[in-house]
Order: sequence, then structure tokens, then C-alpha cells
Amino acid sequence: MTDNRQATGATEQGGGENTRRVYVKTYGCQMNVYDSDRMSDALAPEGYALTEAPEEADLIILNTCHIREKAAEKVYSELGRLRVMKQQRESEGRSLMVGVAGCVAQAEGEEIARRAPVVDLVFGPQSYHRLPELVQRASAGAKVVETEFDVEEKFEHLATPSQKAVRARGVTAFLTVQEGCDKFCTFCVVPYTRGAEVSRPVSQIVAEAGRLAQAGVREVTLLGQNVNAWHGTGENGREWGLGELLFRLAKVDGIERLRYTTSHPRDMDDALIAAHRDLDMLMPYLHLPVQTGSDRILKAMNRRHTRDDYFRLIERIRAARPDIALSGDFIVGFPGETDEDFADTMELVERVGYASAFSFKYSPRPGTPGAAMEAQVEEAVKSARLAALQELLQKQQRAFNASMTGRTFDVLFEKPGRHAGQLVGRSPWLQPVQVDAPEELIGKLATVEIVDVGTNSLFGRLINGQDRKGSNVGVAIPA
Ligand code: SAM
Ligand code: SF4
Repeated sequence: MTDNRQATGATEQGGGENTRRVYVKTYGCQMNVYDSDRMSDALAPEGYALTEAPEEADLIILNTCHIREKAAEKVYSELGRLRVMKQQRESEGRSLMVGVAGCVAQAEGEEIARRAPVVDLVFGPQSYHRLPELVQRASAGAKVVETEFDVEEKFEHLATPSQKAVRARGVTAFLTVQEGCDKFCTFCVVPYTRGAEVSRPVSQIVAEAGRLAQAGVREVTLLGQNVNAWHGTGENGREWGLGELLFRLAKVDGIERLRYTTSHPRDMDDALIAAHRDLDMLMPYLHLPVQTGSDRILKAMNRRHTRDDYFRLIERIRAARPDIALSGDFIVGFPGETDEDFADTMELVERVGYASAFSFKYSPRPGTPGAAMEAQVEEAVKSARLAALQELLQKQQRAFNASMTGRTFDVLFEKPGRHAGQLVGRSPWLQPVQVDAPEELIGKLATVEIVDVGTNSLFGRLINGQDRKGSNVGVAIPA
């Protein structure tokens, strides 16, 4: 996944003129999307405005992902293109600064600067608050490689974006509450690239949610590599987990929907399940990766739970919130995976029934225990297993979407839709919903009946011409 989201008008914060342009290309997970916004927030007071056009940028930053080999290799191909662009610029007497951020930067550091001399600065996920200083050093001609690890310091010093910049990013927002991971699944680089688990304090999170709400954000998705491991001292002096934090955020004026991702099955505690039962604002959609349905492979992956633990957990969650939909991540072809192990994964998927899921071929990552394991699975076997699994998951997703026809629920409208007069919003289960609706509904929840289901979207109609709070939005009530 790449995301080239742009925002405009980022000068408000520093009051300076936007004389320079920065282009940020984001690879990978939602946390990188969040971090890219933090980079542009940090650069705004230095006079950098975001641009959607790399050719007009003075600074290009690639915010990279190291989770699978393909994701990391994409960065080097992009750097090849940037080398040509930089040479062209230099022949015209203009300059271009190139930065590599994110997990590839953290994992490979100096190696990037060596392999791709086009790069002026390399900086890991814990250095974004220091970006102005790093850019200054690179402008003075230094090759900057900064991969220090201090997550707490980063959280304390993140730049506060202007209200205008937040508004330009839309009515939904990510909010990082936790970073890093202590689980050490044997396939995964995250504990090495993002470091040990660190939870942000309640006061910082509540303050950021308040600022987002004031700028018009209505839906907040709490982020963390292992988000349900979040913990902290609550405002009542007691130890809080994610469940308690969600109850607190539900009180922030203006926030109408809450979500969180990504969770580990071992960290779904009673308070979090209670939040799904008691908090209507917490959307009934849960990303709860299991990776494999085989107990043998779960153990080899160091996931620290069994398939039966997962089934029991899902039973408890469904008992608390019967309309909850599940999503997951799966890896096929982990070392030692046999046909029987893979059959267990297929059987688990059949039994759980997913609304959506991501599935991947195992990619050995340097430095992780999985990469050194014997019995690596052949590429052709991985491909065949992935195809079979994806067919099943897609069938389940289609069935889940089809079950929406005729249903009525609230949609949070986000932006203009595909056609004139249409808006697109999200269902509680994250599906895009296209509806004929007036523009003033952007940022509002309104009740919609689903009349049709497409491949990637639902189609609905407003059923009463009012937003959920009862204000008339001036539409004719469809017959
Ligand atoms: N913390 C989450 C969890 O516990 O499931 C996952 C975070 S990871 C950034 C996202 C997904 O990438 C994982 O759930 C896994 O399915 C996939 N992934 C991670 N390492 C991988 C690897 N070496 N090969 C293939 N897929 C991988
Ligand atoms: Fe990676 Fe998630 Fe396992 Fe942590 S819990 S090591 S982030 S897969």
C-alpha cells in the first residue's frame, strides 16, 4: 500500500511563508501515514508546504516499510528514479534533497546512503520531531544518518499541526497511542525497527483527540503496532488499559466514532471486550490477526496462543457485541508449514468467517529467527496456498458485503463521491458507501439504507433527509 495524501495551507502554524515544497511518499501501514503527517507538521514552521507533484518539490521524503522484502525493494527502485531526477535538476542549476525515513531507514541506516548516493538524509521513526535540524545539516552539505532510539522523547516533541492543516486532512484521523512491540513473533521485523513497546500518556492522547475534534475530526482510529497492549496511568490514578482509554476518549466533545488497530489476541482483556459491549461509539469492526490456523505453526511463530484460545476469544467478543465483524492477517508458507498445517488455516477461516483480511506469503526478514529456520517453503507452494486462501477470504468478504443489502445504519460522510451530487462515507464496518447527498453532510453521520452492493463499495440512500442529530439537510426524501 502506498499513500500520497497531501495537505495544504500548513503555514498557519509557524506564520512563515511557504517558500519551499516537500513531497512525502508513504509506504506500508497506517502508522506510516500518521508519521508522514507528523513530518509535514514538523517542517511547516520551516516554510515547507506539501506538494502532490514530486517534480516541484525541493525535498522528497520516502517514508518506507521493511515488513516484507518487496516493500523494502520498492524503495531502492524509487531511489533509482530520484537519482535521474536529481541529475536533471543539477544540470539545470537547481537542487533536490532526498530523505529516506521509516523502517527501512531504521533497519539499514548507513547502508542506504552507501547503496544510493542520491540520498542526503536517512532517519528512523524516532527522529521525526528533529527533522528541521536534520534538514538544516543536510542543506549544509552533511550526509545525515540518524537512527537513534527514543520513542518517549519523540512523543513529547511532536509538532502540533495547525487547525487548517488538520481540517485539510479530512473528518477521520489516526492517533498513535502506542509504538513498538515486545512480542517478537519469529517472522517480524517490527520489534527491531520500531523498538520496545512504549505507550503514550493519557494526557497527551486526550489533548491530541481534543485538537482533532476542534478541527472537525469526527472519527479517530487509535494506532499502535500492538495497540491493545497500550497501558498507562489513568486520570483517576489507576492503571488503565485500552478499554478504559476508549471510555475516556468517548467523552471528548465532537468525537463520534472510535476505532483501533492492530491488536494481538493475547492482549484482548475484559475491559476492552466490555468497551465493545457498552460503548456504541466503538465501531463493531475488529482487526485481530491470527496469522495461521495451525497450533504447530503458531508455536513456531511465537504467537503465544493456540487456535482454541483464538476461537474462545472470538466467542467472548461476539457475545459482547453480536454485530461485530472481524478482519485478520494471515501468513502462508512459514518455515515448516505442511499441507496439514495449511488445511488448519483454511478450516479456521471457514469457522471464523471474516469480513475482510490481508494475506501474505512468508517473506524471510534478515535478523529474525524465522529467516534462519530450516524447511523454508518453496515459492510455488506459497503461491498456490496464497491463491487458495485469498479465494476463500474474498468469498467471505463478498458474502459479508452482500448481507448489507436492505440494512439501515449510520454512515459518516467523508468527501465527494464518484459522481456529481454523491458523497462517500464509511459504514460502521469500514465499507465505503456511495450516497446521493448534499455537501453539507460531509463530517456528519446520517442514516442510510443500502440498496445495492458493488465490488468495492456499497450504494445507499438517505432515508430521512436528516443528519443523525435531526438537522434538516435540505434533501428531498426519496420515494
Ligand atoms: N502487530 C500485528 C500483529 O500482531 O498481528 C501485525 C503488524 S505487521 C506490521 C502486519 C502484518 O504483516 C502481520 O500481521 C503479518 O501478517 C504481516 N507480516 C509481518 N511480517 C511478515 C513477513 N516476514 N512475511 C510476511 N508477512 C509478514
Ligand atoms: Fe510483529 Fe505484531 Fe508480532 Fe509484534 S505482535 S512482533 S508487530 S507481528
